[in-house]
Amino acid sequence: MKDTWIVKDSQTDRDGRRGDPSAAGIAALRARGERVTPARRAVLQVLAGTSEHLSVDDVFARAETIVPGMHRTTVYRAVETLGDLGLVTHVHPDHGPAVYHLAAALTGGAHLHVRCRSCGTILDVPADLLDDVARRLATTVGFTLQPDHAALAGRCRACSVTSPSVDGDLAPA
Ligand SMILES: [Zn+2]
Ligand SMILES: [Zn+2]
Ligand SMILES: [Zn+2]
Repeated sequence: MKDTWIVKDSQTDRDGRRGDPSAAGIAALRARGERVTPARRAVLQVLAGTSEHLSVDDVFARAETIVPGMHRTTVYRAVETLGDLGLVTHVHPDHGPAVYHLAAALTGGAHLHVRCRSCGTILDVPADLLDDVARRLATTVGFTLQPDHAALAGRCRACSVTSPSVDGDLAPA
């Protein structure tokens, strides 16, 4: 159980077999008869170009460097529409604003998230991590768990070593 446990983000594997996920997103928009606006294209490019977990403000800041002069609300609406279309997903950390990803349909990288309360780092973890918990919730209380919608809180390996006793929250920058 070392770093192999962490899901390798397919988005970092730019030369990999999946090609450009933003191109796949644009193709998906066209296939559904949806407009490929500059804002939608920029949002797809921003999310395809990073393995980081970006807030909508972060997405806007980077999209603005691709298409200068876009309105904030235009980009926010593009993120929302891409979400409605299932091309972009979001995760709620235990602290701070929601963060955004290209959907696994585009990247092939379905995963869950954990977030370190000390340094704010969000890590990708295997998609099946909570399958047993989900099964037990379903059989015992009839509850359908959606484990990909929120990140689990805790402390990363580095912070566990350097500050094992600290129990404060660090809001993401
Ligand atoms: Zn940490
Ligand atoms: Zn992730
Ligand atoms: Zn949500």
